[in-house]
Amino acid sequence: MPSKTVVILGGGIGGMVAANRLRERLGTDHRVVLVERNAEHAFAPSFLWLMTGDRKPHQVRRPVADLLGRGIECVRANADGLDLSRRKVFTSAGEIPFDYLVIAVGAELVPGTVPGLAESSHDFYSFEGAARLYDALSTFSGRTIAVVVASMPYKCPGAPHEGAMLIADPQINLRQIGKAWHIGKVLFERWWLATPGWRRNAYGAMLKMGGRLYGIPITV
Ligand SMILES: Cc1cc2nc3c(=O)[nH]c(=O)nc-3n(C[C@H](O)[C@H](O)[C@H](O)COP(=O)(O)OP(=O)(O)OC[C@H]3O[C@@H](n4cnc5c(N)ncnc54)[C@H](O)[C@@H]3O)c2cc1C
Repeated sequence: MPSKTVVILGGGIGGMVAANRLRERLGTDHRVVLVERNAEHAFAPSFLWLMTGDRKPHQVRRPVADLLGRGIECVRANADGLDLSRRKVFTSAGEIPFDYLVIAVGAELVPGTVPGLAESSHDFYSFEGAARLYDALSTFSGRTIAVVVASMPYKCPGAPHEGAMLIADPQINLRQIGKAWHIGKVLFERWWLATPGWRRNAYGAMLKMGGRLYGIPITV
């Protein structure tokens, strides 16, 4: 087979796994090119531990290039457009021709779609947001923290529940934050439970525990 070029857009979890697996399986005469706009990858499942102080910022980020196997061409650029008929990607570093294309650009947070949300809230859905939230929790002196899913769809159905429980867990508060503050109420709304698995398993388990988990009243 003549040499082919596979271009992968996005060097997050999906894009990196695709690139590494393709590189393992394809012969060296074929090119695997990964286009990622950021120099570093931040591992989203660890953002919650960044929020609680269980991980330091340097423990959850790695250079993208270090996570890719040998023989993968990594282009640091923003993918701006596609021409499918001519099989080209337009990027901030120029045009890249492809024979096969993998699109793995993930989902983007767009807090600006809810007026006032960005200015008046914290998030643990981004590296910077989780790091800032750790600082904010360390000096928090109020009584109520509302964990809110602002709109659907959103990344990771489980993370709001996990985040709420971690924020409300007195052991974590005492150990990590070291402040004598108290969570009055964390709100759970039924419509959060985006996937059938969560509805069946997690929500049922919460209700079986008498509607309270780590002292969190559950509102339905
Ligand atoms: C707080 C939190 C906790 C989570 N916990 C878990 C968990 O416990 N278990 C689990 O399985 N999943 C978890 N997830 C979900 C998991 O992180 C995502 O499902 C996963 O990251 C999706 O991978 P992806 O490759 O599709 O997208 P991403 O990892 O988001 O990667 C997309 C990449 O594309 C790049 N990109 C986007 N647009 C462009 C462009 N135009 N040009 C160039 N590059 C671009 C981005 O910079 C990014 O690096 C969690 C997510 C969050 C936010």
